[in-house]
Parts: sequence; structure tokens; C-alpha cells
Amino acid sequence: MIKSQTSRISFNRILEIGPDIYQLSDRGVNIILIVEDELTLIDTGYPGSSVPIAGFISSLGRSVDEIGLIIITHNHIDHMGGLAELREMGRARVAVHQAGIIGDGDEPPYPAGIRRLLRVPFFSNLRRRFLLSPGDVDIRLSDGDVLEPLGGLRVVHTPGHTPCSISLYSPRDKLLIVSDTLVRSRRDVRLPHKTVATDFTEAMHSIRKMAGLDFDILCFGHRRPFIGGASARVRDLVDGIKD
Ligand SMILES: [Zn+2]
Repeated sequence: MIKSQTSRISFNRILEIGPDIYQLSDRGVNIILIVEDELTLIDTGYPGSSVPIAGFISSLGRSVDEIGLIIITHNHIDHMGGLAELREMGRARVAVHQAGIIGDGDEPPYPAGIRRLLRVPFFSNLRRRFLLSPGDVDIRLSDGDVLEPLGGLRVVHTPGHTPCSISLYSPRDKLLIVSDTLVRSRRDVRLPHKTVATDFTEAMHSIRKMAGLDFDILCFGHRRPFIGGASARVRDLVDGIKD
């Protein structure tokens, strides 16, 4: 059962999607907060999101410096833009799939238009804000890693939207967090559009991989969760993928 709250700070929407699991939405992007002895954040929203995140955490009687772990689902600015601020505010370790750490000569995992823009000298100064470098990351994730939150949160490497895209699976809570690998429409779950994938074939392979998991709740990078029969819905979508 989802409980909705009105926030006194600037999140557009706060949903409690499980016991002590919150989905916070800022400027259309979702951030997941897991409240245990230590706090865990999954994604950090756009730059500036640290303010409402800290505010919401204090409204729970906790503090932003109790965030022990920040997991980034992929290195797009709407998901990791608030990371630098949050690192300064506390002591969180940052976990990212190893493919998300981009060296100076590497191609950024953005659609072609943004990649071209980031090559223009003026905009190339922004590269640092749009990408994660080795110094931003404490834990390099691989497929199958199991992290501490929710009694064992499994990393599922689901590349395609970006090379480093991961999903996070909690067998205990029957919850799968897929970020931008699948798309939430108003009433349904959809396959992503070709233009937003760095590798569409790989993206479809990743969705097939998700279909093998058992979950009731599906959380996305944008919009509301899909609740009830979520893994069956993903299996239906997979049946419709044309090779
Ligand atoms: Zn994205």
C-alpha cells in the first residue's frame, strides 16, 4: 500500500513504497531513500537536490551525515547531479558500476547531440558536471554484487540506456529499481525509445534479464512506481520484443 505525503520542502512528491523506503521526486526525477541504521540513497537528482534531500531526512529525525552509501544507477546529470554536494555534506561512500567512470578521452554516455556539445571548448568545461571521474567513486560495482541495504540489495548490470546502467533488486521486498532502463507511462510500463539508448540491442537484452526476476514493485527514474504483478508485466513486454 502506497502512502502519499505532502512535503513542506521542495519535493514535488514523496511516496513511501515499502517499510522505510521512500521515493522522492524533484523536478521530475526520482531519488530513493532507504532508512535503516544507516541511510542509503539511490541516485541524487539534479544539482541542487541536496537541499530537499537534507530537509526530508531531518523531517524523519535523522541527519544527512547518516547517509552511509549513495548508489548511482547511471551517470546522467539528472541522476547524479546532486552527488558532489551530498559528498561535501557527509561521509557517504559512492557506488557506481565500473563502466560509469569516464576518463578524459572516453566518449560520454549521452545521446549524440549532447556528446557533440561536450566537445565544443566552451561546454567541455561542463564535462566534469556531466560525468563521474575516478575521484567521485568509492565502490566500483559489478553485476551480481550484493550491497547491505534491505537485507541484501543485488546489483543487476542492465546496460543499454548507458553502458553503466544498473538495476537494483531486493528479493526480500520484491522490489526492482530500474531507473531509465524501462519507462513508466501513465498507466503502463513501456520499452525505452531507441534515441535514448547508447545501445538499443543491449537495452533489450537487459530487459530480458530483468524478466527472470520475481518482483511486485517496479521503480523508475521518472514517474510513479508500477505496483502489483510487475514482473509478469515485464515478461509480457519481453515477449513483444522483436529481434
Ligand atoms: Zn538517463
